[in-house]
Amino acid sequence: MEILDILIIGAGPIGLNCALEAQKNNLSHLIIEKGTIVNSLYNYPLYMRFFSTAEKLEIDEIPFISTAPKPGRQEALEYYQGIARQKKLTINLYEKVLGVSKNNELFEIKTTKASYVAKNLVIATGFYDIPNLMNIPGENLPKVKHYYTEPYPYAKQKIVVVGSSNSAVDAALETYRKGAEVTMIVRHSKISKSVKYWVKPDIENRIAEGSIKAHFNAEMIEIKENTIVFKDEKGEIHEIDNDFVLAMTGYLPDFDFLRNSGIELKGDCLNPFYNLETMETNISNLYLAGVVCGGKDTHLWFIENSRIHASMIINTILSRS
Ligand code: FAD
Repeated sequence: MEILDILIIGAGPIGLNCALEAQKNNLSHLIIEKGTIVNSLYNYPLYMRFFSTAEKLEIDEIPFISTAPKPGRQEALEYYQGIARQKKLTINLYEKVLGVSKNNELFEIKTTKASYVAKNLVIATGFYDIPNLMNIPGENLPKVKHYYTEPYPYAKQKIVVVGSSNSAVDAALETYRKGAEVTMIVRHSKISKSVKYWVKPDIENRIAEGSIKAHFNAEMIEIKENTIVFKDEKGEIHEIDNDFVLAMTGYLPDFDFLRNSGIELKGDCLNPFYNLETMETNISNLYLAGVVCGGKDTHLWFIENSRIHASMIINTILSRS
């Protein structure tokens, strides 16, 4: 069996960047990806726009040409998939990594299709696969969506949007503009300060004029077939008519996978342990890259500031060989 210099789990922007860095330095590499190339981006809302400008999303200094300063989902898919194609990165798709173990300084990686052996392992699995659940009765009803794709199914429907970050605000505004009757249920006292600066006045003005209803310091209690129940800031319980719930309550890394790989998770945010200079975890030659590094704090890392992980990891590997 071939012993790879580096195996990367996840073909997101940062996994691809790690592979590019390995390729430039003549290290053999393989990416294993359970979906398509940049699978998280493929599953983003269809008409989303990045908060980053195109050059901040570039990897390996390959120009990202976008028709607008901030690209949309389709341009990003073209950019990252185009790089994987043109640079002939070695990627196995629709193959999920089930577990990793280490024997005699080599990693054995078991997937849904095969087993691999590598000297170095990078986990770049992101956080977009596991929704942060509300854990309330009715959350598993088919009318509850943890992923929002586009507004058209919600025309003339009574929508509840849970949350107040970018995903929630985009979903509320888009569905409102396609004729939905939108109510936001927000745990915090106001719209999140991380909402894109050009979108924030729009949502605040729609709420102020009453076009979109919003309950702050409020909590979802139960979801029923035709209604939802929530508690307002005074602690009073309300039951309102409802057709769909868009639960934009965020996403979480796969903590079981990290734990089973032997990585220490620390504190309330379950921050995975890694060395800030090398990205190496508590297991030698096992590295973390990209947004998975933040644990539950999914606002800590994004493409812009985690692109650097690739060169940190490859430089560490080279310095030891
Ligand atoms: P991901 O892109 O999530 O890649 C992880 C990959 O690992 C996925 O393809 C997944 O399928 C795969 N995977 C997971 N588990 C396994 C397994 N067991 N086996 C095999 N494969 C596996 N960041 C910015 O810098 N600017 C922005 O403007 C911006 N906008 C955003 C908008 C939205 C709606 C969201 C959700 C995020 C945004 N982010 C932005 C954050 C950042 O873009 C993403 O989180 C980005 O995808 C992170 O890249 P990554 O490579 O670390 O992880």
